[in-house]
Amino acid sequence: MPLPSGLPIVDHHCHLSPDGDGVRAVERFRAAGGTHLFLATQNYEPGVPRSLEAYARQFEVTGMMAKRAYDEVGVRAYPVLAPYPIDLVEATATLGPEAALELHFSALDLAGRWVREKKAVALGEVGRPHFPVDAVIATSVEAAFHHALEVARDSDCPVVVHSADLTEDGFAELAARAKEVGLRPDRVVKHYARHRVVSGSTGGPVPSYLARRELVREVSHDSSPWFLETDYLDDLKRPGAVLDLATVPRRATAIAESADQGAELLWTPFVKSVERVYGWRPEVDGTGAK
Ligand SMILES: [Zn+2]
Repeated sequence: MPLPSGLPIVDHHCHLSPDGDGVRAVERFRAAGGTHLFLATQNYEPGVPRSLEAYARQFEVTGMMAKRAYDEVGVRAYPVLAPYPIDLVEATATLGPEAALELHFSALDLAGRWVREKKAVALGEVGRPHFPVDAVIATSVEAAFHHALEVARDSDCPVVVHSADLTEDGFAELAARAKEVGLRPDRVVKHYARHRVVSGSTGGPVPSYLARRELVREVSHDSSPWFLETDYLDDLKRPGAVLDLATVPRRATAIAESADQGAELLWTPFVKSVERVYGWRPEVDGTGAK
């Protein structure tokens, strides 16, 4: 059975670099049936940004890649912007803890402005390094995460969280942090989730699952919100280090063709969950993304 027309096929987290495969990767996504991407920013220059201008430049590149995906391939790409939490590690070493944190806050404020101007749809990636850091950096990381949640509240948008893989308790902790600042817990997305969390047990935060075959099969019947992503890195020096951008449409096709699954399950990750978390739905017409 083919993918139903009218159903958007959405990769909820990927990166695209002007120095990588870029638009060619989007062509593979489109050829496999993909229609919409959530495009997370990244450092495109060597080293981490040391000034707000450098972050502004970085966000412009993400916006430009999103525009190219639509203009050249017809795939709608939604920018997701924030200073990467791990930037704090190198920035603290080079700028000192106070200046590094101040820059990080300003970059979060800038990302919030992009959202309010409708040039981005969420703050991300925000959160915590997935490896242990020293006490000074850990303190900065927590302050930065708190500020990110406040900016999301004030900009009326979701946050996309980078962290180590989480259990149900970890999801509950994210819910508590969101509530503290008055952000709806179901506007928090844990990206790169690698284990199924029991549907309805997170207290609000939504898993964005890495689209590995086994994991997709496990979660495909879950009715509370969830997303699928590749976290495609678009780094030509690391081919095969991550899932290719064509993966989500391929998994969607497999679900649609499977006797015990079926295409109707796909409305949860690609439409209902976007509506719940973001407040709007990705639209398609006869030929692709609108
Ligand atoms: Zn990422």
